[in-house]
Amino acid sequence: MYSADPERYNGQMPYRRCGKSGLKLPQISLGCWHNFGHTDDQHEARAILRRAFDRGVTHFDLANNYGPPPGSAEENVGRIMSEDFACHRDELIISSKAGHLMWDGPYGEWGSRKHVLSSLDQSLKRLRLDYVDIFYSHRPDPDTPLEETMGALASAVHQGKTLYVGLSKYPLKMLKKAVAILRDLGIACPIYQPPYSILDRWPENEGIHAWLADHGMGSIVFSPLAQGMLTGKYCDGIPDGSRAARSEGFLQVDQVDAQVKQLRALRDLASEAGTPLHHLALRWVLDQKPVVSALIGARTVAQLDDSLDALGQPPLKKSVIKKIDALAPP
Ligand code: NDP
Repeated sequence: MYSADPERYNGQMPYRRCGKSGLKLPQISLGCWHNFGHTDDQHEARAILRRAFDRGVTHFDLANNYGPPPGSAEENVGRIMSEDFACHRDELIISSKAGHLMWDGPYGEWGSRKHVLSSLDQSLKRLRLDYVDIFYSHRPDPDTPLEETMGALASAVHQGKTLYVGLSKYPLKMLKKAVAILRDLGIACPIYQPPYSILDRWPENEGIHAWLADHGMGSIVFSPLAQGMLTGKYCDGIPDGSRAARSEGFLQVDQVDAQVKQLRALRDLASEAGTPLHHLALRWVLDQKPVVSALIGARTVAQLDDSLDALGQPPLKKSVIKKIDALAPP
């Protein structure tokens, strides 16, 4: 039987307001893209979820297709949540998404009303929930009218199947239009989910972060450790069992090889600054506006603890930020 740590809200985890909304998120949230599928260690998965909650992580991020196989992360997290966290449902922000390939045929992906609403119903079943807290359009659809996709998100709110809606990876022009359509439908969009790390400054370079800050929206940034590269673990080769070493992992060896020089330079900079590279990487994203939360992954409880310990680090000095910019320019 799991009994949550009664000290979990005693100051160890800071919570930030998502833009101008009422939604508060932990500065570090846990994503279940990897490490929660049927091929992963279920004991460790349960231990990670328990430890996260015990340390004040109230937000868990999923999507229809997380696994492998697709859907299995929602099934496993749903089972563990129903067994361990049922009495804590109102303390949790659970998100899911639709848009990437999930099932065969013309309705298994993208942004049609058919895909978005059918996918949400499937996710709720797998998660064993009546509603999710945030439901995202996972990626922009170049062919479906934005009015249709946003209309589907609005319907999900009206049907009580999600409390908030969010957008992921939308380019600035589509983001602006989508948020305006939602506003016209009476639905606020408090949250945006882009990739963002020292190695990938896309939302900053595209003006997305500046626009979100100006328009009262928050950014929850995914892969802030660049899928593990910003832990320094790949500086001297590909460790056994790591994401890059596993066939089902999304990190490619080529990607690692292409960045290894930069990774070594960043590791040396972190060591000069007296901090582990992953703490430097997490502190860096958390110090950028309008970042509300760093959405990390963890394969073990030890990795999770290691990342959460970054919250004890002071903000980075200007001189260190300058050196980061020189090594990994925007
Ligand atoms: P991270 O950049 O935090 O990478 C996490 C991985 O890094 C871990 O699984 C582990 O991989 C490695 N790692 C973490 N800590 C340590 C450590 N202390 N020492 C050594 N290795 C470590 O995030 P993810 O790429 O996992 O993405 C996080 C979440 O973001 C996802 O779960 C998902 O919720 C969301 N996301 C959203 C997307 C979207 O399109 N909206 C796309 C991608 C992610 P290992 O040990 O296996 O090498």
